[in-house]
Amino acid sequence: NDVHTLIEQDKKHYIHPTSSPKLQQEEGTPLIFTSGEGVYANSKDGKRYFDGLSMLWNVNIGHGRKELATAAYEQMTQMAYASSFKGYSNEPAIKLAEKLASISPGDLNAVFYTSGGSESNDTAFKLARFYWAQKNKPKKRKIIALENAYHGVTIGAQTATAIPLFHNFSESGIADVLHAKAHITACENGDKNDPDYESSIRATIEREGADSIAAVILEPVQGSGGVYIPPAGYLEAVRALCDEHEILFIADEVICGFGRTGKMFSVEHWGVTPDMMSIAKGISSGYAQLGGVMVNDAIHTVINEYDGVLAHGFTYSGHPTACAVALKNIEILENEKIVEHTAQMEKELLAQLKKLEEKHAHVANSRSIGMLAAFEVVKNAETGERFAEDVAPAVKVVDECFERQLILRALGPNRDVIAIAPPLTITKEEIAEMISIIDEALTASF
Ligand code: PLP
Repeated sequence: NDVHTLIEQDKKHYIHPTSSPKLQQEEGTPLIFTSGEGVYANSKDGKRYFDGLSMLWNVNIGHGRKELATAAYEQMTQMAYASSFKGYSNEPAIKLAEKLASISPGDLNAVFYTSGGSESNDTAFKLARFYWAQKNKPKKRKIIALENAYHGVTIGAQTATAIPLFHNFSESGIADVLHAKAHITACENGDKNDPDYESSIRATIEREGADSIAAVILEPVQGSGGVYIPPAGYLEAVRALCDEHEILFIADEVICGFGRTGKMFSVEHWGVTPDMMSIAKGISSGYAQLGGVMVNDAIHTVINEYDGVLAHGFTYSGHPTACAVALKNIEILENEKIVEHTAQMEKELLAQLKKLEEKHAHVANSRSIGMLAAFEVVKNAETGERFAEDVAPAVKVVDECFERQLILRALGPNRDVIAIAPPLTITKEEIAEMISIIDEALTASF
């Protein structure tokens, strides 16, 4: 079990998700995580890393919370797994469904469980089409997603994902998914004089015909695309547009949910209630594999009135252990007022990022909503000039951070965005520690 043997076995037998296999075979040595506490993750080779991305934006309450392990243990020793198919249920799944209904916005009062975000989005697409078919509008099948979106990698969700990297790997997709330009509020409000009008959601609906559109899906804050916070009024405009055309609005809260943005769900920032909400990641802070789709009363009614078989479900839909872990996770988020804390820490992080902008000529466009933050590494912060695409400047800085045992991620169409999304429990002192590493890494990079 020494680290070198593990690395060799890893290379030989373990196909890693979203990775660069050849590079890893040639020179990469995977970092083998062994334990963690709070914002820190320890590796097999005895190092302690600052987890600036909550692993994959999901370890919201931080690493090493024993209460979640206890919740899993207690459930596993009672009944680790039970089916939720026709006629069966289990206590944690029921209690979590009730809890989710009570914390979700508006009339999002029922959940369909999955094991993760991609399954949640595929489920939402199928439910949208099912809903319209039941309403005698079977032609309403098309899904509109946004450019630069990330919605997962199962074939349905991946079709909605617009980041080219994922389509370069595997071309296949489902029919009837369209993409529109993101965050152009004026167009969605109907301004046909705007130069972007033709690529807006509104123009797409007009072109295709509202009677062919089932749903619009978007991440309230685009995450993997590069952390883009929508301008004021945008979410409201899309909600109104969907209402105007009888189109379902699906909010993908897979990253944004469970406190990440300083509200339990990010749509609360804009007072918008979607018709469906995809959830995963922070629901269990990554301690167990769980996701779901919250649906509103109208959709739930249609489901409940369906006299056929709702032939959609996963073996692990409503997994009792995963649900028990999620219940404990939400209890901790609430009891420790972690969501409120996140909103407080946003101010601290933003202030520190502004200081980096002042100090470093290559840092620009820092932004944060809760603990979902980013800044850009540009050629000239004053003029806004970007580096050429092949420079991938954020990768350089992220590598320098990694050398200093801080984990961050390079994103964005030009690979010039650095995403920061630490566990929500982060303290002021830990923010300062993280920023000082970034500061050093920037100095070392240029
Ligand atoms: N939706 C969003 C917004 C995501 O960020 C992700 C994952 O990063 C997904 C969906 C897919 O979730 P999963 O990887 O759990 O399938």
